[in-house]
Amino acid sequence: MVGLVKGSSVIRAMFEEGKKLAAQYGAENVFDFSLGNPNVAPPQAVEDAIIDIVKSEDPLRLHGYMSNTGYEDVRATVAESLNERFGTGFNENNIIMTVGAASGLNVIFKTLLNPGDEVITFAPYFGEYRNYVANYDGVLIEVSPNTENFQPKIDELEEKITKKTKCVLVNSPNNPTGVVYSEDTIRKLSQVLEKKQKELGISIYLITDEPYRELVYGDIEIPFITKYYRNTIVGYSYSKSLSLPGERIGYLVIPSEIDDYNDVFAAAGVATRILGYVNAPSLMQRVVARCINEKTDISYYERNRNTLYDGLIKLGFTCQKPEGAFYLFMKTPVPDDKEFAAAAKKYNLLVVPGSTFGCAGYVRIAYCVAYETIVNSLPKFAELSKEYFK
Ligand code: PLP
Repeated sequence: MVGLVKGSSVIRAMFEEGKKLAAQYGAENVFDFSLGNPNVAPPQAVEDAIIDIVKSEDPLRLHGYMSNTGYEDVRATVAESLNERFGTGFNENNIIMTVGAASGLNVIFKTLLNPGDEVITFAPYFGEYRNYVANYDGVLIEVSPNTENFQPKIDELEEKITKKTKCVLVNSPNNPTGVVYSEDTIRKLSQVLEKKQKELGISIYLITDEPYRELVYGDIEIPFITKYYRNTIVGYSYSKSLSLPGERIGYLVIPSEIDDYNDVFAAAGVATRILGYVNAPSLMQRVVARCINEKTDISYYERNRNTLYDGLIKLGFTCQKPEGAFYLFMKTPVPDDKEFAAAAKKYNLLVVPGSTFGCAGYVRIAYCVAYETIVNSLPKFAELSKEYFK
């Protein structure tokens, strides 16, 4: 832990720094793009559900222990909703309620990994993956970033799969790029995994981390990956889709078709208990079941994205236009992204170096902030740009 404390999350450190700067200069003069904390209030239906559930339901049932996998009726509601939306055939025995996406990933890695097992992921990726895999003595293997369009490099994946590969971990819409992995990418990925499973005589589980599933702009479709590759396990969270990150609620989808389904599902239930979560928060389980069709106001983030993207491009910066999530991944005009992030801080612009996500030479700008913050930050970005562009 001494090492982990020293190298503790850069993102969290910036968030703390932002609070200090705000106290010093006034919050309106600090442009804190460091943390993926939603800036749209949860739908009114969430508050209504909380009040109604607390007032109307049996308090002993509502606040008591339950099955480690969560309330059966809530799991059934989640399964039905997925079936309606994606034409799948899940039931309550395919769903485990989790303490957000973070616990879902920890539960599934506890379930699947033996010490030394490898989890392959594509850079850039959410930096916490390193810790989640290391928690179970697994080894995180990175596929290098494809900076042309940030779709995963499937050829390099194929080269990196060995007998030690237990999981491949994907995240789309992606943190930090905002890129959505295309159907073509998912098809190619599935083909390679099928081929390698046969060739090596092993099971490779594709873990798809989807906290940003509902946050897409325009008519972009996100493929539901269990339909493309049999050994897929989905991790979902309501942190971003219902703006409930502090409440810690999400779920895992463990399809009956995966290899060793019975053992995996049973082990994931036990993992939920023995990792100390015991079960996902009871009130929030009931709330999300009531709010299963509620949506966040995506137009809010879309306006932020458009203004920020157009503004930065006009100033001469380079970035891929995000299709989802609420992050923009900007190329730094100098190779050293940490140096650039430090330069940005002089203008009270807080951005996260891409090296945190396994992709140096970029910074992540989390635009889940007030619209005024975006508008008022652009003159600061203009001053910053003058340090680099003539
Ligand atoms: N995975 C990704 C890609 C994320 O960006 C985050 C949070 O920002 C998480 C997982 C963790 O989400 P949760 O709050 O649901 O645990």
